[in-house]
Amino acid sequence: MAATGVRMGVVGGSVAGCAMAVAGVRAGADVTVYERSAGALQDRGLGIVVPPALHERLVGAGYLDAAMPTAPVATRVWLTREPGGRSAREFARQPSPVTPCNWGLLWQALRAATTGARYHRGRPVLSLGRTAAGRAVVRTAEGEETYDVVAGADGHRSLTRRLLAPSVRAAPAGYAVWRGTLPPSALAEHPRPRELLREAWVTIGFPGGHGIFYLIPRGGGAGPDERLLAYAIYATPPGRSPGEVAHVREIAERHFPAEWAAIVARGEHTAMTCHPVADVRAPLTADPPFLLAGDAAGVTRPHTASGAVKALQDALYLEEALRTSASPAEALRSYARERTPEVARLVELGRRLGRAQVERAPDWTAMDQGAVEAWCRATLAGATSYLYADAGADADAGADGPPEAAPDAAAEAG
Ligand SMILES: Cc1cc2nc3c(=O)[nH]c(=O)nc-3n(C[C@H](O)[C@H](O)[C@H](O)COP(=O)(O)OP(=O)(O)OC[C@H]3O[C@@H](n4cnc5c(N)ncnc54)[C@H](O)[C@@H]3O)c2cc1C
Repeated sequence: MAATGVRMGVVGGSVAGCAMAVAGVRAGADVTVYERSAGALQDRGLGIVVPPALHERLVGAGYLDAAMPTAPVATRVWLTREPGGRSAREFARQPSPVTPCNWGLLWQALRAATTGARYHRGRPVLSLGRTAAGRAVVRTAEGEETYDVVAGADGHRSLTRRLLAPSVRAAPAGYAVWRGTLPPSALAEHPRPRELLREAWVTIGFPGGHGIFYLIPRGGGAGPDERLLAYAIYATPPGRSPGEVAHVREIAERHFPAEWAAIVARGEHTAMTCHPVADVRAPLTADPPFLLAGDAAGVTRPHTASGAVKALQDALYLEEALRTSASPAEALRSYARERTPEVARLVELGRRLGRAQVERAPDWTAMDQGAVEAWCRATLAGATSYLYADAGADADAGADGPPEAAPDAAAEAG
């Protein structure tokens, strides 16, 4: 059946909520979105990467406008600071095609595609319940409505998850991520990093952590030369609590190659947040008439670059299930069978990557191309990840620590 006549409510109107709304509308449902925030979500101007094939599929299926700017690159470059010096040493380079997006522009594109759904902003859902007949009840300050399906897309502190799995708690990783963007002017006097970032996304390893860097579109008609530099820096927070930007500048000054230190330590940060890293997962992603999507279903550590990716895949799967199942309840049971294992897989993968890259970070200065490849294979241990296009298949090694790394002839890098 198509979902014609099905009433669907969506709690949360961010990436997962908008994608769920598009899925419902495309399958024929009558969709209402409740978003707590009255402000403009597009101002959350951070970077996000998605697999190129998923981006193409979303454009083809009408979730994203082909005009939404992206900044695709095909390669990952690993750098660290030259031991005893301040120059950059490139120690590995891998094929890793990704499509970097500006989170705010991605949200705007998804929001624009929700035409056909009612989108209420500034309307928090206060509680949820079930009728005796098994329909979902959504309560807001304005009153209550009943639905055949309610998608909980209400983020990492999901109210909907608390209804389905009251005892689930987030598991802290014990380290943090500082995430932000720098304006193009930060790169103006640094041609080598600027050129490198045009073709690659960059990982900089330092003792006890690493930073990820890539360019994202700015929006507002700005061209490729005006891209923002997005970063995510993972490290254990200091005991004292310095300003967020101040701490990132300090890490950069102390550990980064000189040119990268200058970019991060001296550039004006356009946006900046700091999160403790944690993961959480619901034991079941649907219990009709409720389903969980995006971070509400589970939060994987950001090393997988898969939170938004999963939210978008959740929506594509729901659309298909609503179109092909005999009833909404059957569609949601099918969703639970498909999406629950994916959440578990990503949470486990995020833990492995976090362990390898932060909790037990290798001596980056001793790594070379061969060591990185072996270390990636060992860390993935057979799991697939679009970030590690070539490394997922070989499952023969354990993943708890890096292999012995042999020093390599240093290569000067950007
Ligand atoms: C450092 C970092 C880097 C990342 N990089 C990537 C990446 O490269 N690729 C990737 O795919 N993912 C990445 N992610 C993850 C990604 O950002 C998130 O998974 C994604 O944005 C989650 O979207 P969401 O819609 O599920 O949740 P959110 O964006 O948190 O949205 C939840 C929404 O629900 C609303 N809400 C909450 N409660 C209620 C209520 N009671 N009533 C109504 N509304 C409510 C909130 O206001 C909010 O708008 C990264 C995350 C981090 C921290």
